[in-house]
Amino acid sequence: MSGAPHRQIWLDGRLVPWSEVTVHVLSHSLARGSLVFDYMSVHATPRGPAIFRLGEHVARFLKSVELVGLPLEQSEEELRGACIAAVRANPGAKVVKLNAFLPSVEVDVVPVDDHVAVAAAAYDPWEDVQARKEEPPARPPKTVRLWLEKERRQRRPDILHPHAKVAANYTSAMYAKWQAKRRGYDEVLLVDERGLLAEGPTTNFFLVDSGGTLRTPPEQGVLLGVTRSSVIALAEAEGRKVVEEPLRPEALFGAAEAFLTGTSAGVWPIASVDGSALGSKCPGPVSEVLGARFRRATAGEDPAFAHWLTFVNEAG
Ligand code: PMP
Repeated sequence: MSGAPHRQIWLDGRLVPWSEVTVHVLSHSLARGSLVFDYMSVHATPRGPAIFRLGEHVARFLKSVELVGLPLEQSEEELRGACIAAVRANPGAKVVKLNAFLPSVEVDVVPVDDHVAVAAAAYDPWEDVQARKEEPPARPPKTVRLWLEKERRQRRPDILHPHAKVAANYTSAMYAKWQAKRRGYDEVLLVDERGLLAEGPTTNFFLVDSGGTLRTPPEQGVLLGVTRSSVIALAEAEGRKVVEEPLRPEALFGAAEAFLTGTSAGVWPIASVDGSALGSKCPGPVSEVLGARFRRATAGEDPAFAHWLTFVNEAG
């Protein structure tokens, strides 16, 4: 949303109008893809706005910063405080995006000016999309027509660690998703360098086998999704077995159900893969139960998981 006069961004300790938080086209963060970020959801609750699993998101952000090697100055507590301040300053925000970036214009890959700026932006991302088009854009469909990545790109942990949420890590996912979209699919499922199932561009992947066990690719090759760990905890609370193991594409084609998970997607049931229907019904019963329980947990309606929410008006 151009201008967005109602919004402010927390930038290095100050609240700054949205339109003033800009970087140069030649900045290191843009030229080298070195921007590290994390993205968390904000929910309206009877106790005011609440951030979902703030502590886990900030811890993952710091892990990404470490993997990329940025000399960040802020402590974990200051970063949590930045997110809380950003939500307080922007009523109606639906998400918080926390960013660490090198704003200076640089020549070499190692910047001479190594100041890492931190920006916490709390906003409603749909406002921006709506403002760009005359017709309101279609929200993502409730179920996914998935395409399995065919052309393996460089997604190797020794090139760029999958645990790092850094801008440069999204280029091969962008390429793959664009291929899928051009073919009429909603989403792509990426494979790793061995052709094993990995994750979506911004989601993790689960299948439910014919015995009702949940299976998901192991931690080493995927981003450690906060929704992924939440769904594992919720499934176990439901008495369901969850196995983290390498999965071949055949396992997907034979699954009873499958779904993607992510901060924006929630639990997103997969209706078909490469045009073939998956399972007998979408959403299947397990996806439906977990999706509903996840929504209740994020809204603060599940007492067993109330500790997952940070109520910004009550935080110190
Ligand atoms: N994988 C990747 C590569 C992602 O970017 C995301 C989105 N952060 C996820 C998985 C899902 O993570 P989360 O549940 O924390 O949103």
